[in-house]
This record gives sequence, C-alpha cells and structure tokens, in this order.
Amino acid sequence: MSVDPHPKYPHLLSPIDIGGVTLPNRVLMGSMHVGLEEEWGRLDKMAAYFEARAAGGVGLIVTGGVSPNLAGGVKPFAAKLSNFYEVWQHRVVTDAVHKAGGRIAMQILHAGRYAYLPWSVAPSAVKSPITPFKPKALSNRGVENTIRDYVNCAKKAQQAGYDGVEIMGSEGYLINQFIVKRTNKRTDDWGGSYENRIRFAVELVARTRKAVGDKFIIIYRLSMLDLVKDGSSWEEVIQLAKEIESAGASIINTGIGWHEARVPTIATMVPRAAYTWVTARLKGEVSIPLVTSNRINMPDTAEKVLSSGDADMVSMARPFLADPEWVNKANDDRADEINTCIACNQACLDLVFQNKRASCMVNPLACYETEVSLEPTTNPKTLAVVGAGPAGLAFATSAASRGHTVTLFEASEQIGGQFNMAKKIPGKEEFNETLRYFQKQIELTGVQVRLGTRANTEMLSSGFDAVVIATGVNPRKLKLPGIDHPKVLSYIDVLARNKAVGDSVAIIGAGGIGFDVAEYLTHQPETGDAIDQYLKVWGVDRRMSEPGGLMDHEDPPPARAITLCQRKQGKLGAGLGKTTGWIHRSALKKKNVTMLDQCQYERIDDDGLHLTVAGSPQTLAVDNIVICAGQTSQQELLAPLQAAGVDVHIIGGAFQAGELDARRAFDQGTRLAASI
Ligand code: FAD
Ligand code: NAP
Ligand code: SF4
Repeated sequence: MSVDPHPKYPHLLSPIDIGGVTLPNRVLMGSMHVGLEEEWGRLDKMAAYFEARAAGGVGLIVTGGVSPNLAGGVKPFAAKLSNFYEVWQHRVVTDAVHKAGGRIAMQILHAGRYAYLPWSVAPSAVKSPITPFKPKALSNRGVENTIRDYVNCAKKAQQAGYDGVEIMGSEGYLINQFIVKRTNKRTDDWGGSYENRIRFAVELVARTRKAVGDKFIIIYRLSMLDLVKDGSSWEEVIQLAKEIESAGASIINTGIGWHEARVPTIATMVPRAAYTWVTARLKGEVSIPLVTSNRINMPDTAEKVLSSGDADMVSMARPFLADPEWVNKANDDRADEINTCIACNQACLDLVFQNKRASCMVNPLACYETEVSLEPTTNPKTLAVVGAGPAGLAFATSAASRGHTVTLFEASEQIGGQFNMAKKIPGKEEFNETLRYFQKQIELTGVQVRLGTRANTEMLSSGFDAVVIATGVNPRKLKLPGIDHPKVLSYIDVLARNKAVGDSVAIIGAGGIGFDVAEYLTHQPETGDAIDQYLKVWGVDRRMSEPGGLMDHEDPPPARAITLCQRKQGKLGAGLGKTTGWIHRSALKKKNVTMLDQCQYERIDDDGLHLTVAGSPQTLAVDNIVICAGQTSQQELLAPLQAAGVDVHIIGGAFQAGELDARRAFDQGTRLAASI
C-alpha cells in the first residue's frame, strides 16, 4: 500500500525498511541515560517515560546504555542485562512501548576505561583523563568472555521483547578503545594492525547477528569523528563501516567525539545540524541506512538534512525529553507547538553527571510522568499570575491547560522576563524557541495576558481565588565608592537598554550572567556560514586530514578587551553547568578575556576600577565597568497581599534569587500548577 508523502516533511515522515522491519518515519530517539535506570521502583517510571515517547510517534526508540556484564557499567550498580531476572524487569518497558504502538531497541554499552569502577577493564591499562581508576588490561580469554557477554546480552534483550539492540561503538567507550592506537597497545590478535583493532567490533556484530537471527534490528553506533588526537582516520572509518555492514548490522548510527574530547558537540552554542556532513561523507560507501545526529531539534532542520541526502534517518535524544509529542506535532503540522530542546543540558546531562535523575528544563514533567500530572482540574479557579518570565509562563499555561481561568500580568511589553536578555547572547539563540512555545501555549490554553501592566496590591486583592507572584529579581546593588560613575553599567543597561559600551571593560561578577556578558561584548558578528565558523574556532577539520579530525583552531579577534573579576579564590565559572562550564571558559579564553579571582573592589573613578587582586593593588583603566554581581528577589507584593488575606504563592526568582536558574523557575511553576 503506498502512502502519500507528508506535504511538509516528505522525507522525515516517510517509512523506512531496516532489515525486514518497517519504521513509520525516519526519527530515531537516541540513547540517553536518564537516571531512572538505577532507581528503586524504576519499572513503572521507565515504562511511562518510554510509553509517552512511543505514543508521541517516534519511529524507533533506543534505551539508555545497559551493560553486558559487571565490569562494563558506567558506575556501581549501573543497569545491566545478563540474567533471567533482569529479562523480566525489561519486559515492563517493552510491553508498554509496544502497547503504545512503538518499537524499542536496547543499547548495549560497555564503558571500558570510562567506567567509574575500581574493577574497570579495557584493551590496555591506559587510564582515561575523565575517570580516577586505571583499568585492567583484558586477557585474551577476557576479550572472548566479553564478546560472549555482549552476545548473551543481545539474546536476553530479544527475550525481553526488544525489537533490536544498539551496539555502542562510539564516544570513547570500550569498542572505541579497541579501535584506536591511543588506547589499544596490545600485541596479540586484538591489537597492532587496524584489522586486529577492529576485530572486537566486527566479531561482536557478526556473533550477535548469528545469535539473534535475521529480523532483529542491530544498530551499530560508529565513531565517525573521534575529535581526539590519534583517533581513526577517515579511510579507517570507511573500512570499519563496510565490515560492520558485512557482519550483519541493520543500520549505522553516527557518533561524534569521545567524552574526553575538548570540542563542544551538543551544547547550545553548537549550530544546528553541525555534524551531518560527517555522515554524508559515508553515504554511498555502505548500502544499509545511515543515521545522523547532533543538534537536530526541529522538524525543518531534520527535513533539510534528509532531503539534502546527508543521511537516511535522524537521531534526536534530548528533544524527546523536551517534547514527547514531537513527531505527532510535526505530522499534524503543529511544529509551532513543539517545546524545543534548547540544548542547555541544565536539567538533563548536568543532573545525570551528578548522579541525579534527569528531566528537562523546559519540560519538568520529563522522567516524572508517574509523579507530576497536569490532569484536568475538578475544582476550576480564577487565578492571577504576576510576571511573565519562565516561572510565571510555566505556571500560567500549565494551570490554564488544567481548566483554571488565568490572568497573567506583565509589566513590560513582552513575555519572557530575563529570557529576553538571555536570547541575545551569541550561542543562546535557541532561547527564542522557548518564548515562541509559550506564546503559542498562551493562545492554545486561553491565558489572558495583560502586557504593560504592573500589577499592584489593589488590582490583586479581590476577584481571584489565588495569586501567584512570579515577579523575578532585581540586580544586586553594590555599595562601592563611585558606583554611580558614568562608566558603570548594569547587565540590563548592556543587554536590554542597548547602552553604548567602550573598547575596554571590567566585569564585576563571574556567574552565569558575567560570563554571558563577556561573550556578548567580545563577539564579532559572524560572516559566512555559522557551521564553518564554529568548526574553525574549535579546530574541527572538515577535510579530516589527520586521524581524529582535529586541526589548529582559528579565533576571530575579540570585539573588546575584557577583564572578568570575582572575589572568590579559584577557577572562574566553577559554579556553571557541569557539562558546559568548560565550554564557556574555553570560549572566553579564545577571546583573550583576562580572568581574575581574589578581587577586592576598592572604588571606581575616571581612571577606571581600583581593586586589589590577591592582595596586590591594581587599577583597571577601562572605559566601562559592568556589574553582574548577582540578584535579589523582588517580593514587594508578598507581604501586602498576605496582609489582605489573599491566598498567595511565590515562585521562581521572586521566591529565591540565590543560585536561582531558570530550571527551578520552570519546575516550581509547573509543579504548583499541577497541585493548585
Ligand atoms: P524573570 O525572568 O525575572 O521574570 C519576572 C517577570 O516579572 C519580568 O518579566 C518582570 O517584568 C515581571 N514583573 C515584575 N514585577 C511585576 C509586576 N508588579 N507586575 C507585572 N509584572 C511584573 N538561567 C538559566 O537557567 N540558564 C541560562 O542559560 C540563563 N541565561 C541567562 C542569561 C542572561 C543574560 C540573564 C539575564 C539571565 C539568564 N538566566 C539563565 C537566568 C534566568 O533567565 C532566570 O533565572 C529566569 O528568567 C527567572 O525566571 P522568573 O520567572 O523567576 O523571573
Ligand atoms: P550568580 O551566578 O550568583 O553570580 C553572581 C556573581 O557575582 C558571582 O561571581 C559572585 O562571585 C559575584 N557577587 C555576588 N555578590 C557580590 C557582591 N556583593 N559584590 C561583588 N560581587 C558579588 O548570579 P548571576 O550571574 O546574576 O546569574 C543569575 C542566575 O542565572 C544564576 O542562577 C545563573 O546560574 C543563571 N544563569 C545561568 C547561565 C548558564 O549558562 N547556565 C547563564 C546566565 C545566568 P563572588 O562572590 O566570588 O564575587
Ligand atoms: Fe534540552 Fe535543556 Fe531540556 Fe536537556 S534540559 S532536554 S538540553 S532543553
């Protein structure tokens, strides 16, 4: 039966046959560890999480990594599948996905030397720079046993009802460690020549295929661009891909960069679809479908990638945390309703790296499907919300979606609060998508928005069953001699009021906003292709002339000379996100930003900023001093409303400014709406 192509996304939403299994579309939900895997009582939570994505129309789901044995887990008690008891556990997940009409493959991941385990193993005893333990080199028998464990794991996955497995051969995990010389120093049949180094990968796939039969999907995630010195050359990548195909893989998925690589590959400053050219190079070399990945988050981008022939399918992981309905919305021509993943990592990877459960900054329901629900209310109320920043928007639209009548007051002429400054930072353009999403949600849920209206106690004291204060923050005012000098600007002057800024600037405060202001003030407008510019700055070689794909980086000259200051002793930006702080620091270093810790600010005058740095007096002779010294809560409505007997709630920055970030604002707004 032939199906008419989708009018808007004819490639993305067309079916594809992979090794005898037909998928309804070209969308693969990429593997992502979310922390539910190891939680007690995880089964229902995991099942509900995957079921929602299957019901949302994903063509093929891939689970987070599951180890084939005890040595391969990423950390102690990591998810493993090697015995019958574990088969039974996985059944709950596969049944839920199939009931929702989906298909799911289980990723088999052996971490090798990346395991956070004292008993980790690897091809050779070469310690990784990102884990504290030196691995033990596998003996010849150890290698054979590990292959046997992979095959056993795949067979158990089949028994557990999975439609396939993904063999994780990228990001620097065990299989990758066998493939490249930097981690494989063996002199036996598993090391030395390239043929020997890829034997482990090829044997694994061949023996797995033999064990699971023809119809079971085998995805091989192949590291096409290692982004580490002495990685694989392009010729080697082609050879491996061909052998993996011959060994029986159904699809090849793209892996970009080892975990120890110092090139950002998925953070928000990476342009959309910045790496699909890598997959495109492999097209024509093999005949099985190729999946591409990295920073694809909206249907238009995905369609463009597929229609240009770069790949046969797209893999997206985080976008399905942000919106489980992504595919259905694209299919129904409702892409403007998609809650877009803005690639911030704040509520997903940053939490997983702290051994916490992942969620999503812009969708706090992700991974909490069984715990927080926006079911229709049985007790509709009339509610006022003051402030249309992230907290107020999340509350207002979620409460209205449940059937409450909501009026949202916003003092300025636009929704979004501080996100209107965040979106202006080079590399944070994705924040615009969140504002677009909420604007659409306002229309869909019928929230009545009163822009340009500064709500006061009188307006709020009657007519509402409850009032939610989401008024955000005020920038902290410093008590410093000369603080009113014309050289002094606040971050709001710079980002929202477009005040003129001179060529040399000192920034007081090196938190998230201090770093962002430094990025904004040093940025040279892009000329030419954004992807080319990004690859140049981070030293990624499109020609892949050297193994690993790295080259010398080329940094455009900074637009201004910046000195970034903090009072604390230690590395600047230590409090930034676990997975992104290093990127912000490297980016500013590339722009010659001077970073000073142990600063004591003395005064500001015509000569500039006078301070001591680690006890030594200095004067920074700068044109401007920009204050980014944190924020305080704006709570002036709270006490009067409480005194007037109003049922009042306070969320986001208004509730607490210290260590506030938008994650808490969205989360508090959504959870309050679920309970009110
Ligand atoms: P706000 O966003 O401050 O919104 C409060 C709103 O209330 C404002 O629109 C204000 O006009 C309105 N208001 C106040 N009083 C009244 C009144 N009486 N009547 C009507 N309306 C009123 N956070 C992150 O987590 N990640 C980031 O990457 C990030 N980047 C940032 C970059 C910049 C440049 C800036 C400035 C902030 C950034 N933040 C980031 C911080 C983040 O934006 C805030 O944590 C978040 O906006 C707080 O949300 P909120 O709703 O509590 O308050
Ligand atoms: P912040 O992260 O708390 O940083 C405030 C900075 O000001 C710190 O460097 C602090 O360091 C300094 N400071 C505090 N009190 C001071 C004082 N009295 N005098 C001089 N310096 C002082 O706050 P922020 O930068 O305003 O950011 C606000 C929120 O937005 C934060 O939650 C932040 O995480 C979030 N945000 C996140 C990102 C991101 O990329 N994830 C980006 C922007 C903003 P010292 O005390 O050592 O001087
Ligand atoms: Fe995307 Fe940020 Fe949500 Fe993670 S937390 S899924 S990066 S929007």
